[in-house]
Amino acid sequence: MSQLAGIHINSNKKNTLVYETEIEFPTFVRIPLGKCSPTVSIGDKVKIGQVIGECEKKFTPPVHASVSGTVKGIDDYVEIASDGKKERVLTDRIEITNRESLAKAAYECGLVGLGGAGFPTHIKLQPKATVDTLIINGAECEPYIISDRCVMTQKAREIAEGADIIAGVLGITRKIIGIEKNSTVCGEKLSQYGLEVKILGDKYPKGAEKVIIYECTGRVVEEKKLPSDCGVIVLNAATVAKLAEYVKTGIPLVSRYVTFAGPLISDSVCFNLPIGTPVSYVLDKLKVKAQHILDGGVMMGKEVGEDAVVTKTTGAILAFDELTYPKETSCIRCGRCYGVCPVMLSPAAIDRAYHKRDVKLLKNLKVNICMECGCCEYVCPAKRRLTEFNRRGKIMLKEAENA
Ligand code: SF4
Ligand code: SF4
Repeated sequence: MSQLAGIHINSNKKNTLVYETEIEFPTFVRIPLGKCSPTVSIGDKVKIGQVIGECEKKFTPPVHASVSGTVKGIDDYVEIASDGKKERVLTDRIEITNRESLAKAAYECGLVGLGGAGFPTHIKLQPKATVDTLIINGAECEPYIISDRCVMTQKAREIAEGADIIAGVLGITRKIIGIEKNSTVCGEKLSQYGLEVKILGDKYPKGAEKVIIYECTGRVVEEKKLPSDCGVIVLNAATVAKLAEYVKTGIPLVSRYVTFAGPLISDSVCFNLPIGTPVSYVLDKLKVKAQHILDGGVMMGKEVGEDAVVTKTTGAILAFDELTYPKETSCIRCGRCYGVCPVMLSPAAIDRAYHKRDVKLLKNLKVNICMECGCCEYVCPAKRRLTEFNRRGKIMLKEAENA
C-alpha cells in the first residue's frame, strides 16, 4: 500500500462546523426491506422502533418503523402513512456486559455501517482474531458530503461513549478517530472525550477502510484478510454514535443524517431524516428541481430515480441538472492510473483483460481487491470508464469462480 497514492479533489465543503437543519417529518415513508421479510400487514398500526422486517438468516439486522402511523403498502418496501404523533415503542434497559450482548444490541438496533458500505455491525463486532485498536472513521473524503462532520459536531460525546462500550467489551486499548484536516474543530472536542485524533492526509480516498487503517496504524490488510486479522476494527463515526444512543434510549436505527448538496444547492445542508423519507420530499422543500440524483458522493455514488428514498446507507443526496460522461478514447498508456491506485492495481491492464474476457488475467491482476474508489478513472486522460470496467471485471471473475 502506498501512502502517496490517491488524488487531490476539491472538497466543495465550506463549513468547518456543521449543524443539522430542521425539517418537518414527511407524511409518509417507504422503508426498504432489503433482504428482510415483512413482519407487519397492510392496515397495521405501528410505532417508531417497531420491527417491520426481519431476515431468517441473522446476518442481516431487522428493519424498524421510522414513523408512527398505519401500514399502507408492502412490496420491497413498507409504506407507512405517518399519524404525526411520533409514538415510539418502549424498550427495556439495554445492558452490555460481554461480546454476546454487544453483538445482540447492534443486531437489535438494526445497525449497519452508516458510512455507505452497509455491512452489518453485529458481525463486525464479533471478530475471530484478537483486536487491540478501534478506528472510528470520520474521514468522509468524498466532495460535498458533511454528514459525518455533522455527527462529530453534535454527537462527540456519543461517539466517545460508543467507543468506550466497544473497547471495554473487546479489550481494545487504542481508540483512534480519523478525520479530515478541515474537521479539526470536531477533533478538539473528540480528543477532550479521550479519543486519539488522527488528522488524515488530504488525498482521496483517505476514508477507504484499508487506507485509513494504514494511515492510523501503519498496518497493512493483506489480500483476502480482514482488518481484524491485523488487530483492527473500523467503524464509521455515525455507527459508533448510534450504538451508544441505542444503549441509552432503546431507539434503534430509524433515522440518519443525510447531506443534500451538489451544483443545484448553494451549500451542503444536513438533515436528520427518518429512514424511508422520499428524496423528492426534501428536494421540494429545498425548491430544487434535479434532472439527475446521486445517492452517495460524486466518486462512488449511484444514480437513483425520482422515487428514491433515504435508506440506512444514504449518507448524501446530490442534485444535478446534467451528468455528462466525456467521450472515451483509446488508452495512451500514460501510466497515470497506476500511480494513483491506493491498492497498487493496474487499472489499464484490468481494462484490457476485462474487454478480452480473460478471467485468468483478471485474477492475476487482483481485480477482486479493487475498492471502486474511482481515482484511476478521475485521472485518465482518455476518459476510460475504468471504475465500471473494474466493477464488471470483479463480477466476471466471481461468476467464473462460482461456475
Ligand atoms: S477504482 Fe480500483 S483500480 Fe481504480 S484506483 Fe480505485 S482501487 Fe485502484
Ligand atoms: S490513465 Fe488512462 S490512458 Fe493512461 S494508462 Fe491508464 S487507462 Fe491508459
